[in-house]
Amino acid sequence: MTEDVHDLVIAGSGVAGLSAAVYAARADLHPLVLEGDEPGGQLTLTTDVENYLGFPDGVGGMDFIQRGKEQAEQFGAQFQHGRIEDAVLDEQPLELSLSNGDTIYTRSLIAATGASARWVGAENEDELMGHGLSTCATCDGAFHRGDDVLVVGGGDSAMEEALFLVKFADSVTIVHRREELSASEIMADRAREHDDIHFRWNTELETIHGSQETGVTGATLVSHSDGYPREQAESGIDVERETVDVSGVFYAVGHTPNTQFLDGTGVEQDESGYLFTQTDGAGRPTARTAVEGVFAAGDVADPRYRQAITSAGTGSMAALDAEAFLETLQDPDEPTSTMTA
Ligand SMILES: Cc1cc2nc3c(=O)[nH]c(=O)nc-3n(C[C@H](O)[C@H](O)[C@H](O)COP(=O)(O)OP(=O)(O)OC[C@H]3O[C@@H](n4cnc5c(N)ncnc54)[C@H](O)[C@@H]3O)c2cc1C
Repeated sequence: MTEDVHDLVIAGSGVAGLSAAVYAARADLHPLVLEGDEPGGQLTLTTDVENYLGFPDGVGGMDFIQRGKEQAEQFGAQFQHGRIEDAVLDEQPLELSLSNGDTIYTRSLIAATGASARWVGAENEDELMGHGLSTCATCDGAFHRGDDVLVVGGGDSAMEEALFLVKFADSVTIVHRREELSASEIMADRAREHDDIHFRWNTELETIHGSQETGVTGATLVSHSDGYPREQAESGIDVERETVDVSGVFYAVGHTPNTQFLDGTGVEQDESGYLFTQTDGAGRPTARTAVEGVFAAGDVADPRYRQAITSAGTGSMAALDAEAFLETLQDPDEPTSTMTA
């Protein structure tokens, strides 16, 4: 089996996976990057990235990712389409089963599979994501100075997004499908007490108006006094509809970390599925998970910051930790790495 064993497989080709790939390739680990169903990850969904160091005029999300991929390839990283569906990690080599039926063996694995923001299913969301529709206020809030914007959701993250956005926007309206928030009292109070944050109870977003050229220009909201108005409308009950002028819509209805393939493997997850990484003996952060040879980087292990620059940082940490781990495995009689691809 040795000739079919990779030194390092990186799951995911978003910012974290690419950063890990650059570091690992430069360390001659010949990483194989599995791109999953969304090559390039979330940043490919956005037009302008203005908060990444080194791009004073901003950079397009797709352009940024393309440059990262070229950089990694230039140092010897290989990219392959494929999503990991299952993993057996309790002995060396680690075994990865892909959705196309292939099996890959590797001595180490970096999980950089991200956390997908949930969408609400409004009409036109596919077209307008990254063009006035966003899932990240920290990323895109500053594009909405002086605008009226909507935030969809009722939990802590919706309150946080609204409180952040209101620093830029003229008004923020939180659209919530029920009459009660699921946010903590303290967050809900902060939002309620702000003069420029408004609430639309028992209301859902049905359609987002605009185009990729104009950006978001408005939204159609549906309301029903019993809540869950879209369900009510689908079952034939009359609902109220109103179209409002807004220039931005932010989804804040949660994220789903892409960690299902690690269920039951011993890689520890929190209750939402975000991976836990470990600290070293001195209590400093590492990218190591509870399973030897398995590392985590980027949004998949980060429910808090979820930024490109933090993902790049933890991607580099994971590659350095994987390199150190592989050194502990080194058998002088074995070839260091051979590729199956
Ligand atoms: C609309 C939008 C705008 C944003 N704007 C900014 C911004 O301006 N600035 C900023 O700093 N951040 C921004 N972000 C956040 C930023 O995109 C993320 O923090 C970053 O992409 C996280 O990188 P990641 O590599 O951890 O995960 P992701 O980018 O989510 O990449 C995950 C990768 O894993 C792959 N994958 C998933 N499951 C599997 C599997 N089972 N097997 C193999 N591969 C798998 C996917 O195909 C994908 O390639 C934005 C996000 C969005 C959605």
